Amino acid sequence: MTYFDYNATTPMCAAAQEAWLKANRNHWYNASSLYKEAAATSQHLDAARERLAELLGCDAMRIVFTSGATEANNSLFSHFGDKRCHISAIEHPSVRVPARAEAIPVSADGILDMNHLPLQSDLVSVMAANNESGVIQPWKQIMKTCRDRGIAFHSDATQWIGKLEASELGQCDYLSGSAHKFGGPKGCGFLVLRDEEESWAFLRGGPQENRRRAGTENYPAIEAMVTALEHVTQRLPEMNSAHRDAFVKRVRTFLPNVEVVNEDAPRLWNTVMLVMPRHDNRRWLARLSQAGFAVSTGSACSSGVEGSSVVLQALGTAPDALKRTLRVSGGWDTTLQEWISLADAMREVLSSLDR
Ligand code: PMP
Repeated sequence: MTYFDYNATTPMCAAAQEAWLKANRNHWYNASSLYKEAAATSQHLDAARERLAELLGCDAMRIVFTSGATEANNSLFSHFGDKRCHISAIEHPSVRVPARAEAIPVSADGILDMNHLPLQSDLVSVMAANNESGVIQPWKQIMKTCRDRGIAFHSDATQWIGKLEASELGQCDYLSGSAHKFGGPKGCGFLVLRDEEESWAFLRGGPQENRRRAGTENYPAIEAMVTALEHVTQRLPEMNSAHRDAFVKRVRTFLPNVEVVNEDAPRLWNTVMLVMPRHDNRRWLARLSQAGFAVSTGSACSSGVEGSSVVLQALGTAPDALKRTLRVSGGWDTTLQEWISLADAMREVLSSLDR
């Protein structure tokens, strides 16, 4: 099977697998125990926190390891509780559902409308890059405006981290990330807090994570996550959208009126969201799967309509188009040949669906 759903999850890279096995072999002890082997696990955990801090450009004491970005986002919004929060209209459900927040609209290009940033708020949350369309948000500019207005700024950078350079993201007041989106293990991620002193309970019942999140630390997963990010960060300079763009060009040879969502906006190099001119996306998905290609509709059934895109709803797209979206997201090693084969498979699927 040729995999084009890297925005959903990624396979663990070889370096992360090795790091995970080694940590499980040598440092599987409970980091809170008092014998010297456990102390070594605790030291490795501290070192992993320092290495992640270096990659994100923040102080290590601001990092809380979590079970992923969903937990990071939920914990943040339960901490903000009834305070006044604003989120972009295209946030992932793990922000949108727990946040009791007002939505900030996006413009037709899928980018947050800066004119609608609130003058007053306790927290503004805008994702760094969108999971469906890949559109990159001007989070630095938004962060600066929020700072000028005395508003805390959170970014869910789950789709950015591992695809673009992360070393400035630590400037955000709050930051969420998830290991399995960049070649690390599933069930592991982090929330960066505003300052080293900040402390509130994500989970209660133990002193772990500097009393912020109770529960035995998953050191092997954390080690694998940090290793994956170190590994992928080195490869970022090679990454660009040339293969994806060649794919779109080829699709247009047989489907000239296929729409690329927010085509002119800055987007992640690996992602393209298509609105197919005809046929339901689930039929496309099933046929492509039979042909050996894994793609996605773009979003889980978050609006009650399966496969219905949050981004297109925020853009006010007609309901019938919502069922014709396909999200294609490649990885660091996806070759030009694989992208072209997907386009060719789509041509075959189209002629079988048209029949
Ligand atoms: N935020 C965004 C933007 C995502 O794409 C995802 C994963 N689909 C999440 C949060 C949730 O991440 P996790 O799987 O680590 O809970």
